[in-house]
Amino acid sequence: MERIEWGSYSCGCGRSAGHLGGDLRSLISAETEEQARGVGLFGHVEYGGVISEVAPCAVSVIVSALGESLHSVARLKMLETVLASLSGEETEWVDGIPVGSCSRIVYSGLRTFYQEAVSGESEIALDILELVEGDIERLEYFRNFVIDNPVKKRGRRGRG
Ligand SMILES: [Zn+2]
Repeated sequence: MERIEWGSYSCGCGRSAGHLGGDLRSLISAETEEQARGVGLFGHVEYGGVISEVAPCAVSVIVSALGESLHSVARLKMLETVLASLSGEETEWVDGIPVGSCSRIVYSGLRTFYQEAVSGESEIALDILELVEGDIERLEYFRNFVIDNPVKKRGRRGRG
């Protein structure tokens, strides 16, 4: 994340994307709902179905952040941003692998989204997987698993 020259990309809001690195960092480190809600990604990473120039950078930071523990509001916000970014991209496939700039990054983090599907925000994770997974059988397997084993909403992972 430190290696990304955020300021050299243009953001969906029309400014340079310099502010986005800091916004993402705030979202990742948010500890309260208020802090997480205070950071908006809509209009920056993607806007009205179009992805900004900086979107692939943001998506790559988000994909690695999703593998860590995050405030639930921040997590959902990031998943929504990933889904919207993928939706704003024309996905082409080569040998079952998506080649769009955002979808390729998401595909490289496929495990993270399967993990999310079985233990967190199932619905949106499955929606994301549907856009990048070339292995339909694997996706169906997980979808059925999630249907049979719905995630119980609980604040913290307690017993069982
Ligand atoms: Zn912006």
